[in-house]
Amino acid sequence: MPIRVLPEEVAAQIAAGEVVERPASVVKELLENALDAGSSAVHIEVRDSGRRLIRVSDDGWGIPADQIGVAFHRYSTSKLASVADLEAIGTLGFRGEALASIASVSRVTMVSRPAGSDAGASVRLEAGRIISRETVGAPRGTMVGVENLFYNVPARLKFLRSVLTERRHIDAVVSRYALAYPAVRFRLVHDGRQVLQTSGSGSVRDVLITVFGLDAARQMVEVGPGEDANGWTEVQSTEPDIADRPLSLVHVSGYTSDPALHRANRNQITLFINGRWVQDSGLGYAIVQAYHTLLMTGRYPISMIQVRLPPDQVDVNVHPTKAEVRFRDKDTVFDAVQRTVRRALLSARPVRPVAVPGLRDTGGWTVTGDQTVHAALAALRPAAFVQPAMVLPGRSPGLVQPNGTPATAADDATGTGRAPLLLRVIGQLGASYVVAEGPTGMVLIDQHAAHERVLYERYMAERQEGVVTQALLVVIPVDLTPERAALVEEHLPHLERLGFYVEPFGGSTLMVRGVPALLGGCNPEKVLQAVADDLEQGDTPLESQLEDRLIARVCKTAAVKAGHVMTMPEMVALIRQLEQCKSPHTCPHGRPTMIEMSAEQLARRFERI
Ligand code: ADP
Ligand code: MG
Repeated sequence: MPIRVLPEEVAAQIAAGEVVERPASVVKELLENALDAGSSAVHIEVRDSGRRLIRVSDDGWGIPADQIGVAFHRYSTSKLASVADLEAIGTLGFRGEALASIASVSRVTMVSRPAGSDAGASVRLEAGRIISRETVGAPRGTMVGVENLFYNVPARLKFLRSVLTERRHIDAVVSRYALAYPAVRFRLVHDGRQVLQTSGSGSVRDVLITVFGLDAARQMVEVGPGEDANGWTEVQSTEPDIADRPLSLVHVSGYTSDPALHRANRNQITLFINGRWVQDSGLGYAIVQAYHTLLMTGRYPISMIQVRLPPDQVDVNVHPTKAEVRFRDKDTVFDAVQRTVRRALLSARPVRPVAVPGLRDTGGWTVTGDQTVHAALAALRPAAFVQPAMVLPGRSPGLVQPNGTPATAADDATGTGRAPLLLRVIGQLGASYVVAEGPTGMVLIDQHAAHERVLYERYMAERQEGVVTQALLVVIPVDLTPERAALVEEHLPHLERLGFYVEPFGGSTLMVRGVPALLGGCNPEKVLQAVADDLEQGDTPLESQLEDRLIARVCKTAAVKAGHVMTMPEMVALIRQLEQCKSPHTCPHGRPTMIEMSAEQLARRFERI
């Protein structure tokens, strides 16, 4: 075949394939245009998951009648004039491709009236060509209707998934933009039924409630903002060639789920970079990393994180859908995201409420504005329930307010960022749980999980300086199978760094000469068997992760078991140690260490209120 330039229509369809993959891509592009036009309300109407119709109407600044046709030309945009502008893009669109692409694979109607004119203009296009144009009466703003998507691209039509799948993709796009733009009113209607409506109040938490429901929204922790008055964090790059340039600024904010709320996949981790929804697996990983030891492996948080940074620090012109970006200094952004999310998680630490069957504690719940759920919780606490008995003796005065009431998390002025748990031990239940009284009601603590957490944090802290080893008075021989013995021998240097002195004795016997002092009277044989179990798992993680995993395993083995009867002083000591932990609410494997039944729940249960 001779080389030919493709007919315009074929070229247009090929190009459209990059921008318009499925109905949800159309929704995304039209939404971005509406947001770029300064709209305060956007209405999305969908029929048959977008195959029949996608109609997006906004109240933005509209398009003058004489420009409405040009908007559909490929590479026509009002948002960019020169290559230099690419360095500092402040709009979501800039490639001028979306309308042209959409129009080449569907039947499009656009009606628009800018603020200053009394009449609107309407155009109809078919396969990218204008087939009619008229002057019409119209509300201010722009309406784009896309009918019969892919009617002229049978291949694409065939690749569309089920009605439900396509609908899910559309819902995901709209709800994410609603979260990222809480000051804009969004309304989404599928086949005549309204499925989402936001108030445009400007509060992300209001949108969280709409999108995820009240229960989940209550378990979302506010992230950021950063360190200076405007919420920015100054970051020094670690990259040698960037380090000598001025500091750059990163702004990380949003919401992320308490470790109690998690999902089996990463789909609910959403990232917006400079107001743009992007898929960046690296930064997604930064968020997952922030949950280290707080979530079980294979579980993922629900997160909605917004990152802002100077436009010249990020290249958005990577892909036609603009869903990928490139950072000038990826590591620094990664670090800022991970640190900010981690800090939010460690300082929020809500006690998990007990779900009492038949009881819904919705009484009095109004979650508003940017107030965190915990502040709302604190406000709900009946003042009478705060007894002087719960102010523990020996606490630093900074933790107790002058009137004798224990300080809440927000009042904690000690500078450590840690709120006191203030638990008074009452007794033990089923030889497995410690019953305690806390500032908000009854707290049940899983003694094993709590001890695991205590040991784990001590271990991690000691590891910085070198773990202290306690030499055993009597050397203890441990018999393993030959494979297991070989495996442990291979990892002796790791074990030594973790405070174990173990020597091969010949055959498949190992001699334990010393154990980490912090493990106290643990059984060395059991610990060594557990280490062998762990090494046997087969997957060989990175060296650093291997040690982390071994520590978690050792702590699990050494921690007091369920079924062990504890004395009162033992329980008090355990709870005091738990209170000193950075993350007292979960064990290193992510299970909860404590659950709470609030004073209000008790009162309801006893039908007092
Ligand atoms: P881009 O958004 O990359 O500029 P598009 O093809 O999506 O390219 O849109 C082309 C132009 O049409 C935009 O630059 C803008 O001027 C105009 N436009 C599109 N949609 C709207 C809208 N909803 N309100 C106002 N102007 C719009
Ligand atoms: Mg656009």
